[in-house]
Amino acid sequence: MATAAAELDQSVRWNWVNVIFMTLIHLAAIPAFFFVPSITDLALFVAFYLLSGFGITIGFHRLLAHRGFDCSRFQYRLWAILGTAALQGGPVWWVGLHRKHHQASDREQDPHSPRESFFHGHIGWMLKKSRLSRHMRLASDLSKDPVVYWLDKGINPVLPWLATLVICLAIGGWTGVLWGGILRTIWVWHATWCVNSVCHRWGQRPFDTRENSGNVWWVGLWALGEGWHNNHHAQPKAAIHTHHWWEIDPSAYLLWTMEKLHLIKNVVRSRAHIATAVGETVEAGE
Ligand SMILES: [Zn+2]
Ligand SMILES: [Zn+2]
Repeated sequence: MATAAAELDQSVRWNWVNVIFMTLIHLAAIPAFFFVPSITDLALFVAFYLLSGFGITIGFHRLLAHRGFDCSRFQYRLWAILGTAALQGGPVWWVGLHRKHHQASDREQDPHSPRESFFHGHIGWMLKKSRLSRHMRLASDLSKDPVVYWLDKGINPVLPWLATLVICLAIGGWTGVLWGGILRTIWVWHATWCVNSVCHRWGQRPFDTRENSGNVWWVGLWALGEGWHNNHHAQPKAAIHTHHWWEIDPSAYLLWTMEKLHLIKNVVRSRAHIATAVGETVEAGE
């Protein structure tokens, strides 16, 4: 009995809810390519790309997962809501899974290493039940905040995303929902997923980290700075991923601006970034 259970655990068990939903949402975006979008459609697309995109990069990733800067409790919760609007799961689940990724990068326990296959690292892992396990213990610090805890419960992670669809409907009608809701969601999804897949298979490796992370400039642009992934793995807590002026990191530019405006403080710089500014070199690891 125990052996049979173990064998079952090894086989692929599909998460049919995710398989069907992700297929449907990709199919639902197709009509967007059969008409010319209005200025309002494009504006909604860009606005929600930036809001939910920075919600993931600055909110879920650099703030909640790595605590790369300090901000007010109100702002902390706002970032959690914006990240949830990207429809990438609740904050506690996302952060637990991401911390597991840093713990076991490109090894057996990594939830989304492309070593298994590019498809697995990009999207396949989310379609398999065995890879969707919750790593709550790794994100227990987040559950102490009642708003963040609530955002993670039941169907609540879907609600901020649904709210963005309602806003798009109110402002741009159904074409607004298509561009600012559906197409934007897929656009941000694949940007994030490319960090897991492309940036763990290709790219420059200025730091000799223990996994396969690489710096990929076009993922850096698309994923609002997250494509400088080798820099990030070398010093995960640093909220600034760019080390050179030509490493475009829009999330860092927004953090710098917010720091100047005294909206955030104690922004963790990478040692490499500081060294670059004074013309030194830095080895990997922290
Ligand atoms: Zn990684
Ligand atoms: Zn990280």
